[in-house]
Amino acid sequence: MMRRHGALALFLVFVAAAPLLLPAFYVTLFNYIGLAALVALGLVLLTGVAGIVSFGQQAFVGLSAYTTAALAVHAGASPWVGLVAALALTAAAALALGSITLRLSGHYLAIGTIAWSVALYYVFGHLEVLGQYNGLDNVPAVSLAGWKLDTGSESYYLIWLVAVAALLAARNLLDSRVGRAIRALRFRSVMAESFGVDTAALKLLVFLYAGLLAGLSGWLYAHYLRFVSPHAFGVNAGIDYLFMAVIGGASQVWGAVIGASILTVLREWLKDLLPAVFQKSGNYEIVVFGVLMTLLLHRTRDGLVPAFARLLPAGARRARPPEAPALPRRAQPARGTPLLELRGVHKRFGGLIAVNDMSLAMRSGEILGLIGPNGAGKSTVFNLVTGVLRTDAGEIRFLDERIERSTQRDIARRGVARTFQHVNLVSNMPVIDNVAIGTHLRGGKGSVAAMLRTDRDEERRLLAEAARQLERVGLGEHLHEPAGSLPLGQQRIVEIARALCADPVLLLVDEPAAGLRYGEKQALAALLRKLRDEGMSILLVEHDMEFVMGLVDRLVVMDFGQKLAEGLPAEIQADPVVLEAYLGGIE
Ligand code: ADP
Ligand code: MG
Repeated sequence: MMRRHGALALFLVFVAAAPLLLPAFYVTLFNYIGLAALVALGLVLLTGVAGIVSFGQQAFVGLSAYTTAALAVHAGASPWVGLVAALALTAAAALALGSITLRLSGHYLAIGTIAWSVALYYVFGHLEVLGQYNGLDNVPAVSLAGWKLDTGSESYYLIWLVAVAALLAARNLLDSRVGRAIRALRFRSVMAESFGVDTAALKLLVFLYAGLLAGLSGWLYAHYLRFVSPHAFGVNAGIDYLFMAVIGGASQVWGAVIGASILTVLREWLKDLLPAVFQKSGNYEIVVFGVLMTLLLHRTRDGLVPAFARLLPAGARRARPPEAPALPRRAQPARGTPLLELRGVHKRFGGLIAVNDMSLAMRSGEILGLIGPNGAGKSTVFNLVTGVLRTDAGEIRFLDERIERSTQRDIARRGVARTFQHVNLVSNMPVIDNVAIGTHLRGGKGSVAAMLRTDRDEERRLLAEAARQLERVGLGEHLHEPAGSLPLGQQRIVEIARALCADPVLLLVDEPAAGLRYGEKQALAALLRKLRDEGMSILLVEHDMEFVMGLVDRLVVMDFGQKLAEGLPAEIQADPVVLEAYLGGIE
């Protein structure tokens, strides 16, 4: 913590002092770095964190630069009017492009962004009102209360004020309720939806945010250079921005500054050096960048920031988050209320009937075990109940309402929380942040509150809840470790803590004891019993017979997608049909 504050203070002092100490040439260089860092920062969020690749950010830069330049040159509009218009147009373009392409998988978006930026490049180059390939000049400088920012160092302060504000806002955003959901978008969107995150809307939000950052950069660019032409907004520029984000460290906010600095300085340097070496003019730096990028990805996938961070001494271990008032809890239905009912449910995958005329009923306050050999259809039942999959026929009722057509998010809101048989954690995110995703629907602060840090009260309560649930499942020692570094058995327990954070009515756990040692299994059974005694209802899929028999109130046995038997553990253990089909095979 101290180390991070120290590094930030040092960075801010350096940014503030640079124009006073450095020659004009370097101030210009830093201006370009600041402009590029804004765009790269958008890509860090979009590509590095959310996993959405865009080659088209320079088109947003260009759209914004041309909007403000054209308004100023043709209509004499003030740059501030230009700013509003440019950002509005950029936002509209990002929303339109995003809602068309984000629904498709990753590479379609990448192709879409290339297509859109090529198209826009030609529009810029052909429209007479935009000066065609000559561009627009005599764009005015920005003035602030009569003070004209028309020297390099005055522009420097404007550019870096915006860049630093954007960096801090992005850092705050990632460290929040919405930020945790954004970090789950890349590999864990099914999980995020199961805790109530609207992943489609969130992707669009990140795309919009990245577009607006590019738009800000374009506005600054136009009024700093006082000139716009299409050449700065070609596809090459888009690739450069992506290089910057990747070189710096695509999942790190500060990577945007480091990547933009390295690429900008290197380009200046190579532009002079390489033609002298080859005795011929040309854009050789592109080749060098390509080689560097390949080497870098080979050596360190995550870019330079994490590689440098490893060299620094480890900071003080962060403590448990401070106590905070508990979150409100939902009313649990009275013990014995009919809770979940499946009636004649069918699900097929192509020719395979995974669930065949399955029925079961459970009441509030019981632990129902669902057992059966591998491939019997147990996890598919979980996915049907939680809305990950749609039934082909049959009814599913939760608290007497039909849910077989409901979305994952709607089912989560009703109080169903789950764990996944194939662990579904964001592996590079600390355990406590993973678990806090479970609280998503118990908070309400959005991205603007997060950027401005007005979400801190709620955030403290969400993190305190996550810490409490982790302590409850016995993982209080591991709050700040990356979730992926825990043994698989403990990762399953982390998933239980996350589900408990949702304050569920019904908890669905899929093979929670797999990979646990004997003592850990005992502790898990004790925990599940305790939860039941507190009124929670649990549907448990499990392979370990000993674990199930001592724990559950009733059992349903599945085989080949169908219900084979149902009853008390002792009855099931004595049932010859079950023994033959299932237990016999195991013992
Ligand atoms: P269990 O959890 O009881 O081991 P599952 O519900 O995972 O069984 O799987 C039941 C059957 O459905 C298996 O034959 C499995 O291969 C198949 N199956 C599960 N999910 C899918 C899917 N998404 N696509 C195709 N087949 C699937
Ligand atoms: Mg399964």
